Amino acid sequence: METFSVKAFGTEAPEADLQQMTIDRREVTAKDVEIDILFCGVCHSDLHTARNEWHGTVYPNVPGHEIVGRITKVGNGVTKFKVGDLAAVGCMVDSCRECEQCKHGNEQYCENGNVQTYNGHDIHLNKQTFGGYSERIVVDEDFVLHVPENLDLAATAPLLCAGVTTWSPLKHWNIGPGHKVGIVGIGGLGHMGVKLAKAMGAYVVVITTSPSKVADAKRLGADDVILSTDKEQMRANTNTLHFILDCVSAQHDVNAYLRLLKVDGTLALVGAPEHPLPIAAFSLIPARKNFAGSTIGSIKETQEMLDFCGEHAITADIELINIQDINTAYERLLKGDVKYRFVIDMTSLKG
Ligand code: NAP
Ligand code: ZN
Ligand code: ZN
Repeated sequence: METFSVKAFGTEAPEADLQQMTIDRREVTAKDVEIDILFCGVCHSDLHTARNEWHGTVYPNVPGHEIVGRITKVGNGVTKFKVGDLAAVGCMVDSCRECEQCKHGNEQYCENGNVQTYNGHDIHLNKQTFGGYSERIVVDEDFVLHVPENLDLAATAPLLCAGVTTWSPLKHWNIGPGHKVGIVGIGGLGHMGVKLAKAMGAYVVVITTSPSKVADAKRLGADDVILSTDKEQMRANTNTLHFILDCVSAQHDVNAYLRLLKVDGTLALVGAPEHPLPIAAFSLIPARKNFAGSTIGSIKETQEMLDFCGEHAITADIELINIQDINTAYERLLKGDVKYRFVIDMTSLKG
C-alpha cells in the first residue's frame, strides 16, 4: 500500500517526553479522505496512553483524538465530503461493521473492538494507528464528521471526545428538565458535561475538588456547586441527585459521590483512572443505586452533538498551545490546572 510521511509529535516510551517524529499515512483509498489537521485537543486519555497507564500501549505512540481540519484529498468513492470542506475526527476511525452493535449504530461498542484513532490496530498498514498530534490524517469517510460553520474551530476540537463522551450518557439516561444532575471533576470532560446537561434543561450541580472552579461553576452554567473536600457540604447534599456523571481521571472515593444519589439514582463513570475503584456494597444496596459506565459515543451521536452545539453556540473553554509545549501541558493536566481544555494549534508543528 502506498504511503506518505508526515511530521508528528509522540513518545517512544512510558517515561519519555513527547518529541517530534515522522510517521507514515496511507494514500487515500476509495472511501478515504485526507485531512489537513488545524487543531487537536489534549485529552487526559492521551496522557494515560502515552504513559502506558492502561497498559497495552504500542510505541511509538502519537496521541490525539479531538481533531478538526480541512479536507485536502478524497478517494474516488467518497460521497459525503469534498476537497476544502471542514471535517473532524474523534476517538475511533473504524469498526468491524458486522457485529450486532455495529449494525445498530453503536460502533463505539463494536463487539470486535472499535479501531481507536491512536494505539488501535490499523488494518490497512497492519500496525498501530497514529492520532491527531500530526500534520495530516487519512480516515474512512464513515468515521469523519461535519463541523458546524458557525463555531470557533479551535474550541470545537474538544467536542470530538470531551463533548460526545459526556453527551452520550446524558442522552442514554434521558437527562432533561426535572433532573438534578451532578458533574464530578471539572476538567475537559466535566466542563462539557456541565454545558451540555444545562442546555438539555437539567438542574446542574458541579462537584469539584478545586476552590478556583467553585467560583467559575456558575459561569459555565451550573445551578449549584459542591466543594467535595468540604465534608459538611457533601453531607448537606446527601440523597439529592438523580444522576451523576463521574469525569475524574485519578483515584477517588466513589462511595462519597454515590451517597449524593437519590433512590434508583445512577452514577455513570466516564473517567478512567489507572487503578480499580473500590465500592462498598452498602453504597448501592439500601437505595437500589446503579453504578454504570459509558464510552465515547457513536458516529451518529457525535454528529448530533456537533449539530446541537452549532445550534446552541456551545464550544469548549480552551487554552491554545504550541505543540512544543505539550510536555508542560501534560504536567499541568495532572494538577487539574487547565480551564478547561488544552488545544494544540497545529501550525506550530508545520511551521
Ligand atoms: P482532565 O481534564 O484532567 O480532568 C479531570 C478532572 O478530574 C480534574 O480537572 C479534576 O477536577 C478531577 N480530579 C483529578 N484528580 C482528582 C482526584 N484525585 N479526586 C477527585 N477529582 C480529581 O481529564 P479529562 O480529559 O476530562 O478526562 C477525564 C477522565 O475521563 C480521564 O481518565 C480520561 O481518560 C477519561 N476519558 C474517558 C472517556 C470515555 O470514553 N469513557 C473518554 C475521554 C476521556 P476538579 O478540579 O473539578 O476536582
Ligand atoms: Zn479523549
Ligand atoms: Zn462491530
